[in-house]
Amino acid sequence: MRVGIVGGGVAGLTAGIFAASRGADVTVIEKNTSGAGAMCGWVRDGYMIDGCLHWLTGTKEGTELYGIWKKCGVLGGVVKTDSFFSSTSDSSTVTFWRDEARCFEEMASLSPEDGREVAKLRRAVAAASTVSGTASRPMKKCEAYLALAPYALISAGELAERFKSRAIRRALCDMTGKRFSSLGLIFAYSAFSSGNGYLPEGGSAGAAKRMVGKFISEGGTYLSGTEANRALRRGGAWRVSTADGGTMEFDSLIVAAEPARAVTELFGVEHFPKSFAKKYSMKEKYPLFSSVHFAFAAKSADVPFKGTSFFDVRRAPYSSVNRGRMMLREFSHEPSFAPEGMSVLQSLSFVGEKECHEWIDLSKKDDAYEKAKAAAAEAATERIKEYYPSLSGIKLLDVWTPASYSSYLGATCGAYMPFALTPATIPASFPARIKTLPRVYFASSWSRSPGGVPTAAYAGRDAADLALS
Ligand SMILES: Cc1cc2nc3c(=O)[nH]c(=O)nc-3n(C[C@H](O)[C@H](O)[C@H](O)COP(=O)(O)OP(=O)(O)OC[C@H]3O[C@@H](n4cnc5c(N)ncnc54)[C@H](O)[C@@H]3O)c2cc1C
Repeated sequence: MRVGIVGGGVAGLTAGIFAASRGADVTVIEKNTSGAGAMCGWVRDGYMIDGCLHWLTGTKEGTELYGIWKKCGVLGGVVKTDSFFSSTSDSSTVTFWRDEARCFEEMASLSPEDGREVAKLRRAVAAASTVSGTASRPMKKCEAYLALAPYALISAGELAERFKSRAIRRALCDMTGKRFSSLGLIFAYSAFSSGNGYLPEGGSAGAAKRMVGKFISEGGTYLSGTEANRALRRGGAWRVSTADGGTMEFDSLIVAAEPARAVTELFGVEHFPKSFAKKYSMKEKYPLFSSVHFAFAAKSADVPFKGTSFFDVRRAPYSSVNRGRMMLREFSHEPSFAPEGMSVLQSLSFVGEKECHEWIDLSKKDDAYEKAKAAAAEAATERIKEYYPSLSGIKLLDVWTPASYSSYLGATCGAYMPFALTPATIPASFPARIKTLPRVYFASSWSRSPGGVPTAAYAGRDAADLALS
């Protein structure tokens, strides 16, 4: 059985590893030359920049995902950081520690008048670990659902309004932004605090390299730097033509790239499911997002925080979802990321669809794009120095924007995740099959909300099953 896979991200490589390990003749066609799609890292001036993972669900032994990561070589070892992130506002800091008891006890003592809400939130985090099957002391399932129910239909901003402390309010919105479902933070923190959301050794680049290595060791053919641009049905097989003029034939095809662009470009827009296409116009209910990033070099001795820090800025350096806040992440958990005595710092800000289009439009005008990136970087650097004077010597390493994701991943609007979940969103799953495309299977983080690396991996595994059935 010849299986062609368009896209060598996590979904494509997982599909490839599962199919090749069952004896199929598998070829992954990937347009880039490094990384596993969005799960990637790159080197600038001797510093490793991590382009993806803030946490990876499935690091707890015994879970289904852990089994997938082991099979695909994703983990190497597991790196445990002490905290998920810290948020500072009005000189008070809220830290989401690995030890959740410490996190909630600190929150309650920071703001005793919020004690009741803090206790309810703590229970919801425990309930989320029960539902995910990772709690060390699980609650009864019905109790868990009851504890989560009050959060199911509210946004992070609405959750924050239940608290009096400004620092806690800020902390509850920092990770996702105000508009998005409050369950995002609850489930992500529950994964982290129950040991199921750590990091793979070597970060995103380490995990990507191990996945590609595993696929090749299973006998797969990995064609990097090759872009598939058309797929035609010929005599019961799929003939894929590539941008370098080549053609290949497969019995089954797995499309493991962002589906809106991939379906249109490979097969034609008429094959794209109309019900799914409609969602792109329902912008309130189905918002797309991407992000703007900066990376800096700093002397380790000058870095005054550990892990990920969110803090107030007098004005955001550019339009972003979290107005008035900035995030900075340090990587001391990966000493090889920076030369001796130095650290790499990274900043990420989510931006909505409108800003994504603005960045993508700008990127079509070389000069204007470079100027806009330089201006945003200058403003971001200034804000960081204002807030952390010890970082006055930071040096800019790189800037990337939604336009980078649009061109690197081929993702509509630079969105590297499916539609964001607001309380009004009905989770949208891109189907694994489209009626008009026989023996074509779709696998990507668009396969199930809320997306991310685990969804991509599950979708890849399931697509391999379908392709070999
Ligand atoms: C900054 C950032 C932080 C993130 N943090 C986390 C996190 O902490 N935890 C988490 O779980 N997830 C995180 N994610 C999301 C996660 O990385 C993605 O959801 C996941 O990697 C998507 O995998 P995928 O295989 O579905 O798609 P992709 O990674 O987009 O892979 C698709 C691949 O297809 C290739 N391709 C597209 N078109 C073609 C073509 N015509 N021919 C050949 N190749 C093609 C692309 O080059 C790409 O490599 C983050 C993403 C980003 C960008």
